[in-house]
Formats: sequence, C-alpha cells, structure tokens
Amino acid sequence: MQPGHFPANILFFLIFIAANGFFLFTVYRLYRIMRLGQPEDRFDHIGERLEGVATFVFGQRRVIREPSGWGHFFIFWGFVIITIGSIETFGVGIYHGFAYWKFLGKGLTSLLYLLQDLFCAAVIVALGVALYRRFVVRPERLKYEDQKAVNQDASIIIALILLLIVLLFGARATEYLLAQGEPGRYFPRLAFISVGCSYLFSALTAESLRAWYSFFWWGHTMVILGFLIYIPFSKHLHLLGAIPNVFFRRLGSVGALRKMDLEDETAETYGVSTIEEFTWKQLLDLYACTECGRCSDNCPATLTGKPLSPKLTIHRLKEHLQVKGKMLIAQQGSAEIPAGNPEDEKAKVLIGDICRHDELWSCTTCGNCVEHCPVFIEHIDKYVDMRRYLVLMESSFPAEVQNVMRNWETNSNPWGLGFATRGDWAKGLAVKTLAEDSHVEYLFYVGCGGSFDERAKKISSAMVALLNEAGVSFAILGAEEKCCGETARRIGNEYLFQTMAVELVEIINSYGVKKIITTCPHGYNCLKNEYPQFGGEWEVYHHNEVLAQLLGDGLLQTKLPLDKHLVFHDSCYLGRYNSVYDQPRKVIKSIPGLRFSEMDRSRNKSFCCGAGGGRMWMEETLGDRKINDARTEQALTLKPDIIGVSCPFCTTMFEDGLKERNMEEQVRVYDLAELLVRTINPGKK
Ligand code: SF4
Ligand code: SF4
Repeated sequence: MQPGHFPANILFFLIFIAANGFFLFTVYRLYRIMRLGQPEDRFDHIGERLEGVATFVFGQRRVIREPSGWGHFFIFWGFVIITIGSIETFGVGIYHGFAYWKFLGKGLTSLLYLLQDLFCAAVIVALGVALYRRFVVRPERLKYEDQKAVNQDASIIIALILLLIVLLFGARATEYLLAQGEPGRYFPRLAFISVGCSYLFSALTAESLRAWYSFFWWGHTMVILGFLIYIPFSKHLHLLGAIPNVFFRRLGSVGALRKMDLEDETAETYGVSTIEEFTWKQLLDLYACTECGRCSDNCPATLTGKPLSPKLTIHRLKEHLQVKGKMLIAQQGSAEIPAGNPEDEKAKVLIGDICRHDELWSCTTCGNCVEHCPVFIEHIDKYVDMRRYLVLMESSFPAEVQNVMRNWETNSNPWGLGFATRGDWAKGLAVKTLAEDSHVEYLFYVGCGGSFDERAKKISSAMVALLNEAGVSFAILGAEEKCCGETARRIGNEYLFQTMAVELVEIINSYGVKKIITTCPHGYNCLKNEYPQFGGEWEVYHHNEVLAQLLGDGLLQTKLPLDKHLVFHDSCYLGRYNSVYDQPRKVIKSIPGLRFSEMDRSRNKSFCCGAGGGRMWMEETLGDRKINDARTEQALTLKPDIIGVSCPFCTTMFEDGLKERNMEEQVRVYDLAELLVRTINPGKK
C-alpha cells in the first residue's frame, strides 16, 4: 500500500476523516460540558489577551521559570514543528507527489527539515528526562491519589510520542534513499539525523525500501491520528484547554474576587455547591491543567501537611466534571445516559465528596498556586465560591469564626471592641481626622489591626511620625472608620462584606477623598482592587510604596545606622497580589548599616505566614505543623537579628512563631515603618 497511490489514498482519506470527525465530536462535547457553567465576561482587551498567548503559550514564559520547564519547552515546540511536518505527510497520503519543496522552495524546506530533526532529537531527550523524573526521581508534586491510572496515562503518552518520532525518522531515512534513485524526487540533506539513519537501510533493494517506507509512513500517520483521538481522554487534554485558558486569563490583579449579585431575586442559591454552578471559565480551567504540580509544590497548606492540595482539587474537579457533565448533557437531549456509574457520580456532593470541608477551610488564599500555574488556573475563586455557599446557604464554617462574624456585625472589627474607640490609638499623636480637616492629600486608612491591636498600633504610630516628618498632608477617619470587610469576604460572607463595603465607600466619598494610604496589605488590596466594584475609585497606596517614594524624593532621610542583620518577608497580598516587591527593598536598603538577606522563598515565591483567607481567626489543628512555624523556621535559617515585615497579620504570625521557639528576645519582628522611624533625622523639618 504505497502512500498516495490508489487505492491507498482513498483508504487513508477515509481514516483521516473518521479520526478527525471523532476528534471534533469529542471536542464539541467538551465544549458543551464547559458551557454548562455560568456566564462570565472574559472577552475584553483582546489585544492583551493575544499578547498573553504569544508570551505564555508560544514563549512558555511561566513554564521555563523552573529548570525542569525547559523539557516541556522542547516538547511543546517539537510538537509544533512535527505538526507542520505532518501536514506534508498527510498531503503525501492523498497524492504521492505532494511535497513542501515544490511550494516553499528547496532552501526553506531544508531549514524546516533540519528544525524537525533537531526538535525531534530534543523531544527524545526531554521525554527521557520526563520518564526518569516520573518513575525514578518521583517528586512529590507528580503524585496522585490514583497514581496507577496517572502513571499509565503518562506512559501511554510518552510511548506514543516516542513511537511517532522513531517512525518519522524511519520514514525520512527510507525516503532519502528512495529520492537518490528517483529523478524529480528531492530530500534535503540538511536533515542530517534522518540522513544519518538512512545508513541502517542502505543495503536494501529499492523494492524493500519502498516497503519499509510504506510501513514507517503508515505507522507514523496512524500514531498521529491515534494520538489525536486519545488527547481529549488523557492528561494531554491540556493541549486543547491551555491556549484558550491563557487567552481568557484574568487580567490585572489576581486580588479581586468576583462580586456576587445579592440582589438577584431569581437566585435560588448563593455560592457554588454543584460543578455546573461554577462559571464556564472556571470549568475551562479544569481542561487546562497540565498536572505539573507546581501549585501544590508552593502551597503552604500542602507543604505543612494540611488536607489541601490545589493540584488534586483541580484533578478531582476535572474528573467529576467529565462524568457529571456527560450525564447532564445526556439529560438535556435524547442521548443515552453514558456508562460508568453516572448515578454514583450524581450522588457525589461537590462540597463533601469532591472537595472536603477541611480542604476548603485550609486555604490561606496566599495566591502561590495561581502565581505558579503555567496555564493561569484560578484556584482561589473556586475555594471562595464554595465557602460562599457554605456560609450563606448552610451557615457552615469553623466554629471559632462565629464570634468574629458577630463582632464585625456589631462593632466593625473582629475583636468586638467598641466601635466608638476606633480612633483612640491616635490620642496624643499629631494627627487630624477628616471631620476636622478634609482638605488633605491622603486619607490614612488605618484598618482594624492598626486601630485596635496593641502591637499593630505601634506601626500606625510609626507611620504617623514618618508622614509628619516628611510633611505629608493626611488625616484619618478616627471613630468614623469601619472595617473594610476583606477577611469576611475571603471567609465567604459576601453579604457581610458588601454591607461593610457600601458603608465605607459612602463615608470615604463623603469627604471627597482621592488618595489613600494603608499599612495593611489586605486592606490595601481590598480598597484598591475590590472597592471599585462598589464605587470606591481612589488611588490606593501601601505604606511601603509611600515610604519608598518619600525616601526617593529626599523628604525622608535615614541617618542613624542600624547594625543588624535583617531578612524580609514578602506579604502575599502585597507581593503576589499587587507586585509590590521593590519598594520595601528600597526602604530596607536606605537604612545605613542594615545587612539584608533574601530568603529562599522570597518575592513571588514567598511562603505565606498562615494568616490570610480568614485563617488568622481559625484554629490551625490539622497538618504536620503550623504554617507560621514553617515560615519562621525558613527565616531563622539565615540567622537574622530582625525579621522585617509589611503587614500587621505577618507581624503577629512571626512573633507567635518566635515565641513558640522561645526566641522572641534574640530575634525581633518589625514593620519597615518601625525600622525607618528609628533611623530618620528627628531634627529635620
Ligand atoms: S491560595 Fe495558597 S493556600 Fe490556597 S491553595 Fe493556593 S497555594 Fe494553597
Ligand atoms: S493547576 Fe496549574 S500548577 Fe497546578 S498542576 Fe494544574 S497546571 Fe500545574
């Protein structure tokens, strides 16, 4: 059956159409399942989205952040190049005289063949490394609950790709030899690996060569078509899901949660309790997962033994979606109920069976999973959406949060301290309230910690001193200030959050405020990225940004040296959520005599202190150890005198971590404002 000759060409054409038809049908079914999700608008900023595809899919920028990602880089590009070559191979199957060189010219075709040879060789090496990692090194992050099935799937994929390449080299080698003896046939010598392989067949007769060529050609094309059919059922589903997922990725800050429409009177339920209540984009996320495990490899909950692994969450959701989605579609139309115990899958409850309660409440919303996911999967929103359901529909949440919620409702702070005393921390300090003078440049939004917590009040006082020192015009709200509601939102109490947000926006806007300074990254992120959903359109700055600017402008001058060794902890909500990495370092470097070391997990890899996502107010009883203990240990390995922070939550978590080790006297925790205030020239006007 010589390729491209009658009747082989008819046979190939029919197989080609059947395989592609089956593939398209499967993709269409996946699309229909995805469309079971709720509406969400992700069609804005098309240019920026396309740019993201170029950078993150074709440039593989996030993938190659890690050395192991280079293997994937070569496999990806090998795939692209092989696919381009496959078009010619398929063309030959229809008409034996089809050849690229007739259209592209010999020069370009030679280059293409050379690239194919090189990438095929690189793919073989990369697959070898992948096999070694999966079956010999076996890193934790590649492990699954159903390990056998996952390994089997990976083995099939790797075997198919290897076979595909070997058969391609075989076809090329025999084709090269045939081209030598047939005038009008051309094969580029530049494809030196294929040409090199031809020595294996050089003793064969022309007839044998043609037989071997047919064998390799049919083998190669059938493996490609088989692969095409297998993709949607395998872990390589991400080949279909990743590109659209990168295109429809969240633009801007990762820090803004979606606003729930609580006024929708037709809504029967709030939050997410079934897979189809996620949005279509959240379902697309599940198709895109490459199962690389980078999310779990950076998750503080996973790394401290909590019952949460973002990778496994996505994996389980995907499996659940595929079975339940088929069932829901079958129920919509006249199709038969699919086999595979659909009723069992229906009986499975999303919150409880697929995602366990402990899993949902273990997330600190630190954003490490989202930051490190090469295909921009948004894990946090899924956890929060399920928390929303638990809180709003079932009043189900960790018992210790009950009081905190009541305190927010009655006194607008988590401790339940009298709301009228909110501004008392500033008594005796040179600070005005907006009620006294609203003609100021900045509102200093102090937040609950900075207003009520004894330790955090010192940070507020230091900030007041620095702003006064630099001559900044500012005021506070004092007793009028309210909690921003950030933590209530992350716990899932969207109703309470929205009530707080509306109230606070009204108060702030009544003074015509344009610019806000905060010392808490949680309040900062919330006011900056979430309050626009409620009409709060201000310029919001974290105090590290302001201090770096004042130092740069010469309005603050550090003079008194500090002969200490400092490590700095990047707060999740400041760094990963808002990319404020350089400003705190500028502040640190401005302090004379202060020696600074970066932690291994710093900047976008920073390890959470354990307080985010409402975890500050929950007991931490699960896992091998507490998250703040793990982070404190990471800091202490560098033997610092000071752990520098930029967040009142982090201050508490590190101080607790040091106390647990009886090290609170040897190592101190300071907010950068507290360090700076010690070193400025007190005489400067
Ligand atoms: S947000 Fe942080 S704690 Fe939550 S799953 Fe992601 S990495 Fe883990
Ligand atoms: S969610 Fe993202 S980081 Fe996690 S395993 Fe999937 S692709 Fe990798």
